[in-house]
Amino acid sequence: MNVQKLQQNSYASPSRLSFPFDEIKNAWLPLLLDAYYIADQGVFEGIRRQTAKGRTLACSKWCSHCCSSHTTIPVYPLEVVGVYWYAIEKLDITQKKILLDPLRNHVSGDPCPFLNQGACVIHPMRFLACRHFNVFDTVCAENEDAFFTRREDVLTPIKKYKNDALSKMLPFLGLKTKAQRKEAIKTGWIHQQAQVLQEIEWSKLADRLSSVAH
Ligand code: SF4
Ligand code: SF4
Repeated sequence: MNVQKLQQNSYASPSRLSFPFDEIKNAWLPLLLDAYYIADQGVFEGIRRQTAKGRTLACSKWCSHCCSSHTTIPVYPLEVVGVYWYAIEKLDITQKKILLDPLRNHVSGDPCPFLNQGACVIHPMRFLACRHFNVFDTVCAENEDAFFTRREDVLTPIKKYKNDALSKMLPFLGLKTKAQRKEAIKTGWIHQQAQVLQEIEWSKLADRLSSVAH
C-alpha cells in the first residue's frame, strides 16, 4: 500500500517519525513510532535486496488500487490508538473534514476509509500491513490483489524486522518481558489481537473528529 510511497520508491533511507512532546505525554506513542520505523527499515532493506537482483518496485506516488482491492488488512490494537491520536491531534481541519463522511458512512466490508482521491490521508501513520505491502515490476490492475494473483511479485517482509516491529508494540498489551513477547509472536497470539481494517467501526472516530473539526 504505497500510496504516496515514496521513500522506498526513491530509495531514500527511512527515518523515524518524531513527536517529542506527544511522546512524553503518551507512553504508548514511542512504541508505535519505533515499530513503524523498524518496519520501514525492513521494507527498505527488502526492496534493496530485490532491486539488487534486477527487480523494479512498481509502487509509486498516487498508486492506490491496493488500498481499495484489499479486504482483510490487519490492524493491531496499538495502531487503532495511534490512528485515533493522529487523526484527532495531527490532521488539519481540511483533512479532518475530508475523513468525516468516509468514516461515518463506512460499513463492514467497505474499502479503507482513509483513501481520498488516490492518497492516504493518514500516510505517515499508515498501518504496518500497509507499510509492508510492496509489489515489483508490474503495477496492480484495478481490483487486483497481487497477493493472490501473483504472490511472487509481492515483497515478503524480512522476518526479523517484521517480528521486531510487532514485538515493539507488545508492551502496550501488557507483555513486558522479552520472553513473553517472543512467545506471543512465535505462537501467533499477536495476530489474534488484530482487527480487520475494513470491519472496524470507524464511525466512532468520525464522532470524535466531528467534535474537533470546526
Ligand atoms: S503497485 Fe500495487 S501494491 Fe504498489 S502501490 Fe500500486 S496498487 Fe499498491
Ligand atoms: S490506511 Fe488505507 S489508504 Fe492508507 S495506505 Fe493503508 S489501505 Fe491505503
